[in-house]
Amino acid sequence: MSLAQPATPQTYLATFIERYTCRTATSKHLAQHHRARLADPRVPEGFIPAIKELVYPIVGERSQGSRLWDVDGNEYVDLTMSLGVNLFGHNPVFVQEAIAQQLAKGLQIGPQSELAGEVASLICELTGVERVAFSNSGTEAVMTAIRLARAVTGRRKIAMFAGSYHGHFDGTLFKAQVVGDQRQSVAIAPGIPAALAQETLVLPYDKPEALEQIKLHAAELAAVLVVPVQTTRPNLQPQEFLHQLRQLTSECHIPLVFDEMVTGFRIHPGGAQAWFGVQADLVTYGKIIGGGLPIGVIAGKAAYMDAIDGGFWQYGDGSSPQVTKTFLAGTFSKHPLAMAAAHAVLQHLKAAGPSLQEALNQRTTQFVQSLNAYLELDEVPIRMANFGSLFGPAVGDDLEDDSGADPTTISLALLYYHLIEQGVLPRGSGGYLSTAHSDADLEFILQAIRESVQALRVAQFLPPLTRL
Ligand code: PMP
Repeated sequence: MSLAQPATPQTYLATFIERYTCRTATSKHLAQHHRARLADPRVPEGFIPAIKELVYPIVGERSQGSRLWDVDGNEYVDLTMSLGVNLFGHNPVFVQEAIAQQLAKGLQIGPQSELAGEVASLICELTGVERVAFSNSGTEAVMTAIRLARAVTGRRKIAMFAGSYHGHFDGTLFKAQVVGDQRQSVAIAPGIPAALAQETLVLPYDKPEALEQIKLHAAELAAVLVVPVQTTRPNLQPQEFLHQLRQLTSECHIPLVFDEMVTGFRIHPGGAQAWFGVQADLVTYGKIIGGGLPIGVIAGKAAYMDAIDGGFWQYGDGSSPQVTKTFLAGTFSKHPLAMAAAHAVLQHLKAAGPSLQEALNQRTTQFVQSLNAYLELDEVPIRMANFGSLFGPAVGDDLEDDSGADPTTISLALLYYHLIEQGVLPRGSGGYLSTAHSDADLEFILQAIRESVQALRVAQFLPPLTRL
């Protein structure tokens, strides 16, 4: 590809927009064609008026391993990995076969799933939880974990942390607003009942102040909800804080809920609990375990999980459910296809052992090190960090809201679109590596970044090098 020196940033931008929209013309056409009828919240990388011609999602047609092809036939090294679902790359044979076998047997929804019990046992074995229940999404899993915690404790308030995303259930869609020394929870969008904000404390993550607030509100708190390592701040891996949180919540008899939607099965077979050496009371999983099918998992100690079914009982004696139940339902929960895929994923993880994650984590660390060495050398004002196979920009610790690390400036947004043009599909400013990414893929990504930075520098979207 020739990157001829443009006269001005504006002329470069016009040429780039022309090139990019030509290359991905069908994706753009589909976005426009369906916009009136398809209400789609997923606008890639935000709406920046100067580059609105680029604002449409790449439409995927097929995928395999580390690769994805769009409807225009362009091939990408994919870093979105289905939003963190595909730990083994796209379409792994063992998941494909499990789904095909189940499909041939039919999709009987309602009667007990043949595999649900075994899937639950495998989750217990890998993560150390005592009991397991299923939902169809991570959002539902978090919602249910909160309901369980409220049911068992009889309390209402939930503490969560700024920068954490727990899905799109009303009860967690709050951010902190700090006015003077007053901290308030406010809804992140219209339509979320303000009354629910009264039930939610949004505390600063990895800060002593958060522990003080939890102590102060201990008698009212039904749960402390934590994403151990937030997707938007992969550099923040607060082992000590998590241990302090565990100790404090145990002392105050507040259930600690780990939301392991992204960290679960990724950082270690036992997730962040095993990685940080912290045992939560309730844990939520999703993404990876579903092998590409929709799933949510609510798991944890029997003392909380028993509120789902009344607790253990057996035949042939006087035993009966003893625990007061709360409510959990869902037409599609324990869906036969999701159970078949989860079963295949868990068996694969069990057979591979922790070395699968260890090797992938290490490769990602090396990749991020190479990337940072380049960014430093080429004076690009951004540094990356990784937590296992999740990587993204390293963010300062003053992040209070959930604004995330996605590009908001035109230069960063243009970097994103340049990478797509070069055949790399990032997730925001970062992404996920899978076991299917080869060394050649990683070199390809680095090369795409170097070329994109070079093009943006020539076009004056990045400041000139000072070392020249
Ligand atoms: N919790 C966390 C930590 C997440 O990252 C997500 C989704 N990215 C969710 C909950 C919600 O999961 P889902 O999108 O499956 O509803």
